[in-house]
Amino acid sequence: MDGRALAARVREEVASDVAGMPQPRLATVLVGDDPASDLYIGLKHKAASEVGIDAVDQRLPAETSEAEVLDLVGRLNADDGVDGILVQSPLPPQIDEPRVMRALDPLKDVDGLHPLNAGLLYLGRPALVPATPLGVMALLAEYHVSLEGARAVVVGRSELVGKPVAQLLLQANATVTVCHSRTRDLGAETLAADVLVVAAGKAALVARDMVKVGSAVVDVGTNRTDAGLVGDVDPAAAERAALLTPVPGGVGPMTIAMLLANTVRAARNRRGEARFS
Ligand code: NAD
Repeated sequence: MDGRALAARVREEVASDVAGMPQPRLATVLVGDDPASDLYIGLKHKAASEVGIDAVDQRLPAETSEAEVLDLVGRLNADDGVDGILVQSPLPPQIDEPRVMRALDPLKDVDGLHPLNAGLLYLGRPALVPATPLGVMALLAEYHVSLEGARAVVVGRSELVGKPVAQLLLQANATVTVCHSRTRDLGAETLAADVLVVAAGKAALVARDMVKVGSAVVDVGTNRTDAGLVGDVDPAAAERAALLTPVPGGVGPMTIAMLLANTVRAARNRRGEARFS
């Protein structure tokens, strides 16, 4: 499954939406100088400017207090010119990340991490949904992967990826199993999966022989190794799977494209042009 190609199309659609509306504005908040976070923020800003979204880069030093971060979030919430707010994770240890997410205006929460947005997803009424799970679902739709009644297995249960992917698959009428670090026999679960989504952050966690023949496999993992960037699934799984996302070039580009789409969605909702469900 080619994430780069689909992401390019999504970005074109977003650019055309943006051209027909007052310019949406996305504010990103980066606390500290984690190099990976710096890279991600850079990619998001570049992608935003390419589609015509105004991206504002708010950077705070690593020693910033929680109160100062909450103060900045409060100002961005109150700023009518800001449509979307993204607080880059991870935050330094002195800051309670869930508390910061709870402080976001849910209508500007383009990462979909506020409890209201997580709750709406759980209730089957998604408003703003995290970008990576949206990207996973868009890839499965693009490649006509049948989800109705299919056995879907998600490896990983994070708030950002595993849990929301599982909810979206359930909403699409798949029979969903969620695996995690305490799962007794991971291979037995993954081997049964018609659709397998892996988001554990462990290189080569899913070996070739753990993948069902003819299945669709989405590898969300991004692991930096001596051999470069690799996913959680052994690329040799392509010999058994009917469809597999590469790393890089699979879910990564989709995440950024869906963040841009979420920003347009938030802007339209705030302006009353298209209400969330
Ligand atoms: P996380 O560390 O918050 O969660 C990892 C999950 O994997 C946990 O629920 C844990 O129980 C599970 N897990 C760990 N070891 C396991 C094992 N041996 N067997 C089964 N389950 C196991 O990570 P996250 O934020 O969900 O991210 C997961 C991976 O996806 C990371 O590699 C991250 O870099 C990547 N990621 C990629 C994108 C993208 O756009 N491509 C976006 C978000 C995250």
